[in-house]
Amino acid sequence: MDLSKFAGGAAYVGGRFAPIAEATIPVTDWGFTRSDAVYDVVHVFRNGFFRLDDHLDRFQHSMARRRLNPGEDRATIEAILHRCVALSGLADAYVAMVALRGRPRIAGSRRPEDCANHLVAYAISWIDVIPKDVQDRGAHLWIGSTPRVPDASVDPVVKNYQWSDLTTGLFEAHDHGFDTVVLCDAEGFVTEGPGFNLFVVKDGKLITSDRGSLHGITRRSVLELCAELGLDASIGPIPRALLEEADEAFAATTAGGVMPFARVGRTILGNDRPGPISSRLKAAYWQKHDEGWHRTEVRPLEPEFSSAG
Ligand code: PLP
Repeated sequence: MDLSKFAGGAAYVGGRFAPIAEATIPVTDWGFTRSDAVYDVVHVFRNGFFRLDDHLDRFQHSMARRRLNPGEDRATIEAILHRCVALSGLADAYVAMVALRGRPRIAGSRRPEDCANHLVAYAISWIDVIPKDVQDRGAHLWIGSTPRVPDASVDPVVKNYQWSDLTTGLFEAHDHGFDTVVLCDAEGFVTEGPGFNLFVVKDGKLITSDRGSLHGITRRSVLELCAELGLDASIGPIPRALLEEADEAFAATTAGGVMPFARVGRTILGNDRPGPISSRLKAAYWQKHDEGWHRTEVRPLEPEFSSAG
């Protein structure tokens, strides 16, 4: 098999594998016209998936909550992800699975029930939501003025493409010369940022938001690491003032791991560099990767795709 065409990444769409540049969806797909889709992203680090089962669990939960059923069962989705990575030849990868509403089977129908749901998956090169050089100096976090969409309107636990508020926040952050943004809800409690959960460190204790936020898998990893390291960490309400008075803060996401902030708004944290607890957790997170924590080896490429995995 000529794998060179998959070098930029490999995708699964319309029931077939294709080079990433050739992977397309119809412009009338509701996944596109209405952001009517759920997704998940798992990373591959040195040829091993990290917490693959947890990502598949969350993806299945998201699909069920949005009544999406593309037809492929869990074992098949898992096999598709393995094959996308193997085709791409990438040792470190960003691997996405997306369930889209699709197009109505009955022309002109406006009923979501009539749509043919379908699965898209792809593996592309590793992505850090905050570039590595910015991570090293400590990212600068802007607190956005746009409130996060209410949980009652868009459930943040269902991983989705409703990013209008987050994108508005990103523009605002960049306009002010900051690297990224976190949004508060309408009541003034901190929620999350574009692609990450936020942790605040105050007086040696860690807290991450209990609202307006995805139940991040990296957040779970950080909480597990805190338990191992004997650090006091919890999920709870974070008033904006607590973030502004934080000793340290960091982002947690699949796309980059633990990423410390050096500034929050006009406040400089510590010595304007990643703080000691954030740095310790970042180091522990990657060391555990080296040790094979929650690792699933990427399966070698089979000549033919078998949905039995
Ligand atoms: N919050 C949002 C809005 C996200 O998109 C993501 C990840 O992409 C996260 C939080 C972090 O979740 P995870 O650690 O599972 O990647």
